[in-house]
Amino acid sequence: MDTLSSIFREKKLKLTPQRIAVYKFLQSTKEHPSAETIYTALQPEYPTMSLATVYKALKTLVEVNLVQEINVGDGNFRYDGNVLPHPHIQCLSCGKVEDIDGICFSNLNDKIKSYTEYDVVGNQVYFYGICKNCKN
Ligand SMILES: [Zn+2]
Ligand SMILES: [Zn+2]
Repeated sequence: MDTLSSIFREKKLKLTPQRIAVYKFLQSTKEHPSAETIYTALQPEYPTMSLATVYKALKTLVEVNLVQEINVGDGNFRYDGNVLPHPHIQCLSCGKVEDIDGICFSNLNDKIKSYTEYDVVGNQVYFYGICKNCKN
């Protein structure tokens, strides 16, 4: 728990049980869960935690860059405990979101600069398709 408290201290965040629970859950999974999924998963251990509290904790964690928010369209978001830039792919059939390992699009940031007058600070690369399980 030492590292977690020092991470929170560095970000000047109060260590609330809710924030710790949400953060730890996201560190423990590669499933890119939605807020609802996190809420359901934490229910047995934190029966008094509401969905609104989960949303609030997520918002705070995203603001200090401890958690990455992934916009999956239609106003839906998924959450990722890995904040390093990495591309994602979502299955249009079962809805799961996975990391794409071994390829990085950070070099696009510089390229995009020549198409816009922006100082580009990042990008989110997002692919859609049908996963192996759903194909079968
Ligand atoms: Zn699928
Ligand atoms: Zn990811």
